[in-house]
Amino acid sequence: MPDIPDFGANFSAKAFAKTLKDANVEYVNVFAKCNIGFAYYPTEIGVVHPHLKFDMFGEIVKECRKVDIGVTAYFNAGLDHEMARKHRDWTVVNKEGQVIYGDRTANFFRNMCFCSGYRDHLLNMIREVAERYPVEGFFLDCMVVNPCYGNECLEGVRERGMDPLNDEHVLAFAKETLLDFSREVKRIVGPDKFLYLNGLDHADTEGLRTHVELECLPSGWSYDFFPAQVAYARNLGQQVFYMTGRFNVNWGDYGGLKSKASLLNDCWDALSNGVPTSIGDHMHPRDGLESAVYDVIGEIYEELERYEPWTDNARLLPTSGF
Ligand SMILES: [Zn+2]
Repeated sequence: MPDIPDFGANFSAKAFAKTLKDANVEYVNVFAKCNIGFAYYPTEIGVVHPHLKFDMFGEIVKECRKVDIGVTAYFNAGLDHEMARKHRDWTVVNKEGQVIYGDRTANFFRNMCFCSGYRDHLLNMIREVAERYPVEGFFLDCMVVNPCYGNECLEGVRERGMDPLNDEHVLAFAKETLLDFSREVKRIVGPDKFLYLNGLDHADTEGLRTHVELECLPSGWSYDFFPAQVAYARNLGQQVFYMTGRFNVNWGDYGGLKSKASLLNDCWDALSNGVPTSIGDHMHPRDGLESAVYDVIGEIYEELERYEPWTDNARLLPTSGF
């Protein structure tokens, strides 16, 4: 949030990288721009967190590379409350003509429209990070197709010979707009770096994504979710990850720390399906990573590393009666 006055005051990128290294972490996806819309590097295009006084993202990239940890840049694409606040015309207009709706205490009460100036704003920020930092790739979050009834979108619907009064046409236009944006991101990122567009259907991102990350915090949104998702995803011919997290309920449930048994269950679940895991965390805004979290992750990853002769490049073999 913008009003954290001592944001990053005790943060050390060196300690951050060491904590990850000691916990056997090989890659980390780090926030370049968050869902509130702030940048964590000295951007010339976006808005830096009001209380950040140094290049947090840049220092993380530098220190992680020193210890052979790859860094990808996280951008929240679908949400940007700072830009929504400054440019109401960059937000999705719902069918009732509202730009703010639903639960105001949650995240998605206001969404960004990719048929607006926001498209170029975000593309320029992604280009800025791609040119400035030696990142391994990009992760774009909250890539949700929201039908937009704003004037620019409805004119776009009509230009394509579709009907602005037909909800399916408006939705189809929103999806094509988001995919067109994604194709431009792919051109900026290039063919050799990781790209994942979280939220879009896998059927729509063929040729754009470099791998598949299945987001699932099972203790929050059911233990039935991952098995069905992975059964489909592992047939797409790409590296698949189980993206779980240290949270018991949902992303950022502060103070929540999953027990080792619970987190290990997710990792075994992934391995039994032939895929590795990533573990999501929420960093303390003033102090950095919480050592209790990485004690647990370190113990788990040490165990998983011992299995690697059998699990690396393993493939799930379906059996009859499965
Ligand atoms: Zn729109």
